[in-house]
Amino acid sequence: MFLKGKTALVTGSTSGIGLAYARALAGEGAAVMINGFGDAAAIEEARKSLAVASGADAFYSPADMSKPDEIAAMVGECAEKLGGPDIVINNAGIQHVSPVEDFAVAKWDQIIAINLSSAFHIIRAAVPGMKDRKWGRIINTASAHSKVASPFKSAYVAAKHGIDGLTKTVSLELATFGVTVNSISPGYGWTPLVEKQIPDTMAARGLTREQVMNDVLLASQPTKQFVTVEQVAALALFLCRDEAAQITGANLSMDGGWTAA
Ligand code: NAD
Repeated sequence: MFLKGKTALVTGSTSGIGLAYARALAGEGAAVMINGFGDAAAIEEARKSLAVASGADAFYSPADMSKPDEIAAMVGECAEKLGGPDIVINNAGIQHVSPVEDFAVAKWDQIIAINLSSAFHIIRAAVPGMKDRKWGRIINTASAHSKVASPFKSAYVAAKHGIDGLTKTVSLELATFGVTVNSISPGYGWTPLVEKQIPDTMAARGLTREQVMNDVLLASQPTKQFVTVEQVAALALFLCRDEAAQITGANLSMDGGWTAA
């Protein structure tokens, strides 16, 4: 349990990749603060199982990642209740699929706020403590869409390219403080976020469900397989190890070869 005594804050961790990160970190003994929306009973169940797995405390914050004041309060609550955070994983994210000329302005603003600006607000609040302790790990869930684009995802692709720039910049600022900052860029994983965008993609491109799955989603992935949330979480766990201390400012692909093309 190499993370005993460490605290991790994972945004968007009531589901999908975020919950897998929380489980992996708790499995190595970290006290975890989870965050996100969803069914209260299911979230409480997840929180309890994380505490059992880690043998440490686990808390849930309902903070909305589109609201800077709630984000700052969440980081403060984490410090107060659990200490740290020593590890921050910026993971909350949403998607919206639409041709750019019809893209709702409110959707653009929401995606930029949740998928990009929330990471800035959390990093801003968490960095002073990490610098003082001379240890920290900041991991941002980017996407293959931080490296390449697809049509009809203007806000998402812009936010994910922005996350890559934020990662690189902060990694340079923290390089001598024992704090690494990296992005993980998955290709398509089978999570609710991907499942939910199938109907919109069907409408935007005039395709059937099967065509979206095979000809759009897995078309870009040479392995023809979805990435699993456990695979993504395992990479994050490695980034928390001392062996990964010289990996910083990187944008690590886990996309079945998508961005090699
Ligand atoms: P998901 O829908 O399963 O999980 C998203 C999480 O974010 C949930 O916990 C949700 O409650 C939370 N969330 C949404 N809006 C929020 C808000 N305003 N405040 C707080 N929490 C909020 O999706 P996922 O696929 O696990 O996605 C997680 C991250 O991985 C996202 O940043 C996504 O862009 C990225 N990603 C996913 C894939 C994929 O194929 N699934 C690929 C590349 C990158």
